[in-house]
Amino acid sequence: MSERIVEFLRQRDEGGPCMVLDLEIVRQNFEAFSKALPDTRVYYAVKANPAPEILALLERLGGSFDCASVAEIDMVLAAGASADRISYGNTIKKERDIEKAFARGVRLFAVDCAAEVDKITRAAPGAQIFCRVLCDGAGADWPLSRKFGCDPEMAANVLEHAHRRGLVAHGVSFHVGSQQANLDAWDGALSMAAAIFQEMAGRGIVLKMVNMGGGFPARYVKDVPGVPCYGTAIFGALKKHFGNRLPETIIEPGRGMVGDAGMIEAEVVLISKKSDRDDVRWVYLDIGKFHGLAETMDEAIRYPIKTPRDGDATTPCILAGPTCDSVDVLYEKVPYHLPVSLSIGDKVLIEATGAYTTTYSSVGFNGFGPLASYVI
Ligand SMILES: *Cc1c(COP(=O)(O)O)cnc(C)c1O
Repeated sequence: MSERIVEFLRQRDEGGPCMVLDLEIVRQNFEAFSKALPDTRVYYAVKANPAPEILALLERLGGSFDCASVAEIDMVLAAGASADRISYGNTIKKERDIEKAFARGVRLFAVDCAAEVDKITRAAPGAQIFCRVLCDGAGADWPLSRKFGCDPEMAANVLEHAHRRGLVAHGVSFHVGSQQANLDAWDGALSMAAAIFQEMAGRGIVLKMVNMGGGFPARYVKDVPGVPCYGTAIFGALKKHFGNRLPETIIEPGRGMVGDAGMIEAEVVLISKKSDRDDVRWVYLDIGKFHGLAETMDEAIRYPIKTPRDGDATTPCILAGPTCDSVDVLYEKVPYHLPVSLSIGDKVLIEATGAYTTTYSSVGFNGFGPLASYVI
């Protein structure tokens, strides 16, 4: 818990929920990644939280950036980073957006099929591409499923296709799934990557780079290993599969860079029961699925919640948001234990909410404004 955030909230008196993020923690996280994998370039996944202060800090620290759109590329350029520190990592791009990125100087693009290679051939001739390989996301709380990537045999053909079209077949990428608690997840993926390197060498094409994606966890309710453990596991897997011919590597932490750095303050709007016989109380907050807590979908991400009455006896509670939509329930299958003394008007702290919250907030569903964001 950041004392700076608590102090900031003490001074604040305007109403409405807000997310406050402590840049000092982002700095510590960046340094932890750099130290854990000293030969690996860190590309911050901008989508996790594109606040200008975060981008400017990571620019100053020498970081690079994984962008998913031209708008994100422009935010990173506005923060002062040069285009050679940007990867256009979305495998799903309009050709005119590839053209715009190329015009801004971006030269590194993700693909996962021949059709995307063809767009890049036309819109960004000579650029470097890496092919994303499918990963099943097992062990991740927020798996990225089959939407991105192709199987390894197809990846080899996509890379060869790119090479023949005059692009630089630079390497492969994968993402082991977000909030990945299994340290071994990178081992399987790197074994696959090494096999593709070998296959391509056999075809006379020398790959240089492995993009090891994100997946590094934030500290939610469940405990997770620290960044140094990930560094050790990943470096071990690299040595195991590539021997002493290590490729260039990059990682793209999003959640692991900013998740722990932010905290949301919300207010209890109502506490009620559905029947006098019920044990379970419903606790309605002034923030819900539509105003930043979208990752509570399927109760996948369980944020730690602090109340001013912690230490008192607790009972199970269903937590819900304030809007008139029945999907706006945060936790019901596995209720939260909250103090019996919790009262309407109490402020609660929802911790580790620096990633995937502010930009997930709707612009005003049901008249509730977007989640306010402060970076300190
Ligand atoms: C979202 C995303 C990331 C960040 O993932 P985290 O699990 O938040 O670290 C990294 N790379 C790509 C390509 C992504 O789409």
